Amino acid sequence: MTSNNELLMKVEKCLEQVNDPEIPSVSVIDLGMIEEISIHHSNHIQIKALPTFLGCPALEIIRNSIKNAVLQMDEIQTVEVEFIYHPPWTSDRISELGKERLKEFGIAPPPEFNEQNNEWKVECPYCGSYYTTMENLFGPTACRSILYCKACKNPFEAMKPVSNLM
Ligand SMILES: [Zn+2]
Repeated sequence: MTSNNELLMKVEKCLEQVNDPEIPSVSVIDLGMIEEISIHHSNHIQIKALPTFLGCPALEIIRNSIKNAVLQMDEIQTVEVEFIYHPPWTSDRISELGKERLKEFGIAPPPEFNEQNNEWKVECPYCGSYYTTMENLFGPTACRSILYCKACKNPFEAMKPVSNLM
């Protein structure tokens, strides 16, 4: 008989293998997408997840990947994945490991709004410079934007901040 705590830890381990299809190599855990995991009737798992992007078709893919991964566990009968929007997902939720992996993949974490200068700040994943262009940041459809680093002359991608799409 596995205790609930052990079960929760096993589920979390499972989720470390589930990646955002848009960003291979970074798990939903490292992206800070998982807000709550709970067990009901000893074999039903309920997961509350925060979407990192709004309106992206990838959400359904992520839901299915999470379900499939957790259903691999013998102890689990059913899995329910609910996307919630409160608290809103922010880049602060990305783990240090997640940030490193995003950079390796050439993706800058979502930009931060600098209140003092009243402008968005994106760090280049290659050289760490903030001297980057922002023109395409709020393009209409993509979940990520193509930016350009004026310091090292590399194009790179940045995740869009969710709060600004709402
Ligand atoms: Zn650069």
